[in-house]
Amino acid sequence: MDTQNWYDVQEFAPDTYQVTEAGRWNMFLFVGGEKALALDGGIGVGSFRKLCESITDLPIDHVLTHTHWDHVGAIHEWDSVGVHPNGKEKLAGDYSAGCKDFVENWKGRPFPEGFDPVTFTIPPGRFGRKVKEGDAIDLGGRTLRVWDTPGHSPCSISLYEDREGVLITGDLVKPGQPLFIQVPTAVFSDYGPSLRVLERIAAENEVNWVCSGHTEPHPDPSVIGRMAAFVEEAWAGKHEPPKKVEAGKWGIVDEYEGSGVKVWTNDNARR
Ligand SMILES: [Zn+2]
Repeated sequence: MDTQNWYDVQEFAPDTYQVTEAGRWNMFLFVGGEKALALDGGIGVGSFRKLCESITDLPIDHVLTHTHWDHVGAIHEWDSVGVHPNGKEKLAGDYSAGCKDFVENWKGRPFPEGFDPVTFTIPPGRFGRKVKEGDAIDLGGRTLRVWDTPGHSPCSISLYEDREGVLITGDLVKPGQPLFIQVPTAVFSDYGPSLRVLERIAAENEVNWVCSGHTEPHPDPSVIGRMAAFVEEAWAGKHEPPKKVEAGKWGIVDEYEGSGVKVWTNDNARR
């Protein structure tokens, strides 16, 4: 497996891989009987495509859970990327500023061979097809179904895989980490309904793993219902006033905490 001494790879279910870049950005690879599906692209310091091709010889499609900079890094390695209609125009955005900050301050393991932190940029992705609610991606012997789950971003989708029972939530469900409803694309009022959609998926299907862009595969889907209830209460004003906390590059954010759930938000997202 070609990890480039950069990616951490865990096969948390058969033919199902979580790939982590720099300890904080997750991508996924699902290998089916006829083709494979790569989800998200990290920040693109390594070659995610090379890694995927060292795991499977099958053709590999690519789909994005949403278009934030820390998910699109390696998507230029694919000729064609699937994305929610609301994210189509964002594919060609310039995401280099976010990753510049990272490469200049990174103190961890060495960058992959041939990587040049000075000239590094995130090249634009190439739009291939729209991926939205109701779509099914058949890999041969396993299928991923798609739901629109806005809240973190208007282009956020979630996918449920039926053979291993994997629920990919983008950045929506992050057990043990603050929910990011403070980012510029977030819409607080969308968050609760989307979590209820995920709760329903988990009620109607066997979910063995709840996955996100930033956390470890989580074996207990009941976390979703607790998150949904707390987010709805916070949106309804039941936990006022929020704490004001310093949140790094996000500045001062409003923090709500309870039921094992932490939410970061700000006035920008209250619309
Ligand atoms: Zn995000």
